[in-house]
Amino acid sequence: MQLYNKLDRKILKERLMQEPFQRTTLSFYRYVRLSNPEALRDELYLQWDRLQVLGRIYVAREGINAQLSVPHHHLDAFRKTVDSHAVFRDVPFKIAVEDDGKSFYKLSIKVRPKLVNEGLDDDAYDVSNVGNHLDADRFNEAIADPDTIVVDMRNYYEFEIGHFERAVRPEGVTFREVLPEMVEKLKDARDKKIILYCTGGIRCEKASAYFRHHGFKDVNQLHGGIIDYARQIKVKQLDNAFLGSNFVFDNRLGEHISNDVISHCYQCGKAADKHSNCRNEACHVLFIQCEECAEKYEGCCGEECQSFLHMSEEEKQQKAEEIQRIREESKYFNKDKEVLRKKFKYFEG
Ligand SMILES: [Zn+2]
Ligand SMILES: [Zn+2]
Repeated sequence: MQLYNKLDRKILKERLMQEPFQRTTLSFYRYVRLSNPEALRDELYLQWDRLQVLGRIYVAREGINAQLSVPHHHLDAFRKTVDSHAVFRDVPFKIAVEDDGKSFYKLSIKVRPKLVNEGLDDDAYDVSNVGNHLDADRFNEAIADPDTIVVDMRNYYEFEIGHFERAVRPEGVTFREVLPEMVEKLKDARDKKIILYCTGGIRCEKASAYFRHHGFKDVNQLHGGIIDYARQIKVKQLDNAFLGSNFVFDNRLGEHISNDVISHCYQCGKAADKHSNCRNEACHVLFIQCEECAEKYEGCCGEECQSFLHMSEEEKQQKAEEIQRIREESKYFNKDKEVLRKKFKYFEG
């Protein structure tokens, strides 16, 4: 029995592009005790592979977090498979807005120790003691009050291409960095009304409980995150308080919520809001690149990486030391923004 996909990325991509049907990109999550995530993982894989579902799904003892695409004609059947598990019954789906359905190439379901790693023990605070969930209307009302504090619980590269007006800017790269960072930044505002938001709402489930644990009295969170906010403002014709693009972890790497471009190409400084990974596999650094620079540098972060693209295997062997250095540097870029500042003239983080 094969419970994962063995074909390579190129073949998978071609196959996806040639599909004669449309796909819907959606996401859902639920914190719920799962006694046997391994068995559940195998069962879900069989059910969803049969329906040609593609996506990235995590299961853990604390619940499920799923981002996936489903063929239109299998949407009802997909809903039934989800509801067939009592623990997931009626879990709300969040449908992506700007969507060509080509977001995922394969189906990957992984068992993780946790869904969202805040780096704390299970008994460090009460995860079920969450804040008030706000829908888009109530979020807009709350954000309009200048006394409320709006907190972005994502990370610096998600923030840089798009965020809510007046939001407190995260410096950290991972949730486990941003969580203590924000509690520290806001330690004198425990009596104020606080509204948290993240991409899909799942990080805020934990963040709001953590803020409450630290004595914040009026903790609120955007239900369903930016993804569902974007959907609601369209459906209910509400004002949009989000500027720029929403960073998403799939091939889109960003979907436009407003028409503003609030960030810059790291290489030339021109307005741009598309992240990409450097095409030199040894580097793979994540950065913002405009279309012209993408063409000029062939998708690379600079001339050095670009030169590796055209090398023969023999030449690469000779340059093994340099490749190793690039690999080392890039491995740390997430931890150390110094590397990004050194590499890119227009990096602002
Ligand atoms: Zn550029
Ligand atoms: Zn590079």
